[in-house]
Amino acid sequence: MNDCIFCKIANKEIPAKIEYEDDDMIAFHDLNPQAPIHLLFIPKKHIESLDKLNQEDSIVIGKIFFQISKLAQSLGLDESGYRVVNNMGADGGQTVYHIHFHLLGKRPLTWPPG
Ligand code: 5GP
Ligand code: ZN
Repeated sequence: MNDCIFCKIANKEIPAKIEYEDDDMIAFHDLNPQAPIHLLFIPKKHIESLDKLNQEDSIVIGKIFFQISKLAQSLGLDESGYRVVNNMGADGGQTVYHIHFHLLGKRPLTWPPG
């Protein structure tokens, strides 16, 4: 049994506004956007968190970062800039335990984070 919400999005069992998909990954709009552009990139394979990544699966993370840069360009974020975030574990603020990368853009983002 897999109750993972992001696996369900990857399997099209629950709807999401999908921006990009290939054999390895899917990118979709966050339900609760924190910026005018707020996308989530996930591997289709269930990996719980960055902490649980093994060497073999780490290849998909490079592919995800490449596609983040491509999609950011196609959305016109490359000139203004953007942020890519991974939250790991409780202190990192992770709420969904299927590894994902937030792409945030189209507004100035403050630093340090809260
Ligand atoms: P985390 O806090 O784990 O880094 O981020 C989880 C993100 O997933 C949050 O930004 C939250 O808004 C988003 N999210 C949670 N459930 C859903 C969902 O069912 N659909 C979509 N599109 N986003 C979701
Ligand atoms: Zn999952």
